[in-house]
Amino acid sequence: MPRPRRRRLRSPGLIGESAAFSSIVPLLALLFGVLLCGFQAIELYQSRHDEVSRAEASAGNLRRLLESRLVGMFREVELVLIAVEGGVNTRWVEHLSARDPADRARLEQVLRYYSGRLPQAGQVGVVSPDGRLLALDHYGKAWTADVSDRDYLRIMRDDPSIKVYYSRPMYSRIDKRHIVTIVRRIHTADGHFAGLLLSDVGISYIEDMLSGTDYGPHGVVALRDTALDVVARYPAARVPGTPGNHPMAEQMATGQPGGVVRFRSINDGEMRLYSWGWLPGMPYVLAVGLSERDYLTDWHGRILVAGAAGAILAVLGSGIFLLYRRDRRRHAALLEHQKRLRASEARFRRLVNAMPTPVIVTRPDARRVLFANPPSAELLAPGDDDPDQRQLRLDEVERVWLVEKVDEAGDVSGREMPLVRPDGEAMWVLVSASAILFDDGPALLIGINDITARRALEERLQVLATTDTLTGIANRGSLLERGEGLLQLAMRHQRPLSVLMLDIDHFKRINDSHGHHIGDEAIRATVRCCIDTLRASDVPGRLGGEEFAIVMPETGLTDAVLVAERLRVAIGKQAILLDGIAPLHLTVSIGVASHDPARPETFAAMLIRADLALYAAKNNGRDRVEVAD
Ligand code: GH3
Ligand code: MG
Ligand code: MG
Repeated sequence: MPRPRRRRLRSPGLIGESAAFSSIVPLLALLFGVLLCGFQAIELYQSRHDEVSRAEASAGNLRRLLESRLVGMFREVELVLIAVEGGVNTRWVEHLSARDPADRARLEQVLRYYSGRLPQAGQVGVVSPDGRLLALDHYGKAWTADVSDRDYLRIMRDDPSIKVYYSRPMYSRIDKRHIVTIVRRIHTADGHFAGLLLSDVGISYIEDMLSGTDYGPHGVVALRDTALDVVARYPAARVPGTPGNHPMAEQMATGQPGGVVRFRSINDGEMRLYSWGWLPGMPYVLAVGLSERDYLTDWHGRILVAGAAGAILAVLGSGIFLLYRRDRRRHAALLEHQKRLRASEARFRRLVNAMPTPVIVTRPDARRVLFANPPSAELLAPGDDDPDQRQLRLDEVERVWLVEKVDEAGDVSGREMPLVRPDGEAMWVLVSASAILFDDGPALLIGINDITARRALEERLQVLATTDTLTGIANRGSLLERGEGLLQLAMRHQRPLSVLMLDIDHFKRINDSHGHHIGDEAIRATVRCCIDTLRASDVPGRLGGEEFAIVMPETGLTDAVLVAERLRVAIGKQAILLDGIAPLHLTVSIGVASHDPARPETFAAMLIRADLALYAAKNNGRDRVEVAD
């Protein structure tokens, strides 16, 4: 017995592969994203570092450029003072307070020669040891003033080692300008302090000088003194007093000549990178500050772009992650579903296999078998193309009916139909079918019961119930039923129909003289004679005893009388040959009733009419045919 071929659910390997695939994709994407972000961060860090280095370099370059200009500018003033020193007799200066007009005139002459020579120098003057100033301004006008209280006089007088002195910012006592004063010491041949030579540089001149360079929209440059107070600044701003803990001061305290420091300006709150350096030999520190806003503009742009790219990447990444998570959940749900399905299918198979009657799962065509339990084996035929693909061969008309019915109603229960087994044996089966899902596909669950024996019994009972056992023709009940059916048909189609009622004459005598069994044979012989004489469409039936009725469809009264006559003659002529007795001869009397299409009636009423005619035939001498009214 061939085992039903087991078909598995979808291969689990397939699901495994898709799971591996679906988990690798987001992992790769994540890795890619992390790497990309890492590279981007390194790149941004590097580029910021580069930008800062560039800013440091350019701040340094600007500072050195300005430094050389400032130093040059101050040195020029120093050179003028040296030149003045060369033309001035120390004695003139010493005696300046004596108000000797000749000395003063000589001094003025020397000073006038140099005044106005340098655009940066506001005035050129001399100071006597007791603090009297004689100076010529830029236009050559002579001024005098008392500067005995000025720091520079005290310092230069007390410390002969100082050759040149640069002052902190101050206001000129001559023309009230904001200036720094450059002072040179003069002395007598024996080294005795003989007074000072001085000149000044206007702060506004320095500011103009500083303004000639581009430091960026938010850059700044400042020249400060030793206390870090601002001497000149560009852009010009009112700068509050410098607090003691200035960020630059820390680096200066280490003794370096210059450096780079980054801090937020306490003046305008701007974050800057400052390159600072002492002007060589001068008590000024120059600081060029480039604003982070300026030198990191491009970098900030890149940060924005990188941020936007990062955001897009994050959105994409989250999208991929969400998709991945959804996929994983679906996958888990699918696995769970398949597990349940497999369990349920296994239960189903066990159940079906345990059934004592054939249960078969077919494709929706009710033919190709997907699964069958052992009792089904002898019902199934090998497939046409593939012998392993077994087939159920229901009656074709019934198969089509079954498929359509299940399609329409979902199931069919208890349909009787013929089935030819593969071994050729015909049988009757009771079929129930339901549409089910099997192997993830539509299928038919078909239960089959063998009802061949029951059908045979029923058929036999049917025959028994409708047949007269003595003669084999219809019994009374069956004849009445069929007669009624044929009459209805004739009335509906306006067709003629007649009925004969026939009774054997003096039958009692046969029984009486030969016995009952001879009587039975005589009845059988009469029926045989009737069947031989009648048409196939005529329906004879035994009403009881030796009385018969014959229903004749499509037969009018005239024909019916002819048939009755022919029957009467045939029976009359017949010699019934039986063992042990002389040939028997019988006659019959026949009553004829014909249906009148104009007058509806029941078959029973027709029979009564025929019976009346028969009665008349008996009364009129027997062996004759009489017609009902
Ligand atoms: P008639 O000409 O008036 O018909 O006379 P008859 O003797 O035939 O009278 P009737 O038809 O009334 O009698 C029927 C007789 O037939 C009665 C019965 O003994 C006999 N009979 C009825 N059924 C059977 C049967 O099945 N077998 C036999 N052998 N005789 C039967
Ligand atoms: Mg009789
Ligand atoms: Mg009778």
